Amino acid sequence: MSDCIFCKIAAGEIPSATLYEDENFRVILDLGPATYGHALIIPKKHYANLIEIPDELAGKAMILAKKVVTVMTKALPCDGYNVVQNNGECAGQTVFHFHIHLIPRYKGDHAGVTWKPGKLTDEARDEILKKAAGKF
Ligand code: 5GP
Ligand code: ZN
Repeated sequence: MSDCIFCKIAAGEIPSATLYEDENFRVILDLGPATYGHALIIPKKHYANLIEIPDELAGKAMILAKKVVTVMTKALPCDGYNVVQNNGECAGQTVFHFHIHLIPRYKGDHAGVTWKPGKLTDEARDEILKKAAGKF
């Protein structure tokens, strides 16, 4: 995708603070970090979201997330991590090239990676299970 900023960053055409790079991915520091050390895993090939990315690469991305979280938990150091992956504008996706957010957490920080829990009603439970039944 010629007009995609993450394609250009992943290819090294736009400079980025790169923590790690291999044949499939570049891991960079986010320019608008939620916390100190917020990083992004970006595949070098363009896929818009989790639905588009091939299974094998999605698996490799999660293995890489594990590696980066393991290394950076000690290196920063931090007290925890949120691994976040947004799909679609309504879910907060602003760059439509698949990426995984790795957000270090520190005791007492105010990063807002949470939600107000609702209540799973019996009706919703039955309806959702029925919608999914037989589709996997
Ligand atoms: P999304 O909202 O799509 O899940 O996440 C996009 C992320 O990319 C945001 O956290 C934003 O700060 C980050 N971002 C957007 N443009 C750039 C850029 O040019 N360089 C870097 N390093 N991060 C960017
Ligand atoms: Zn792209």
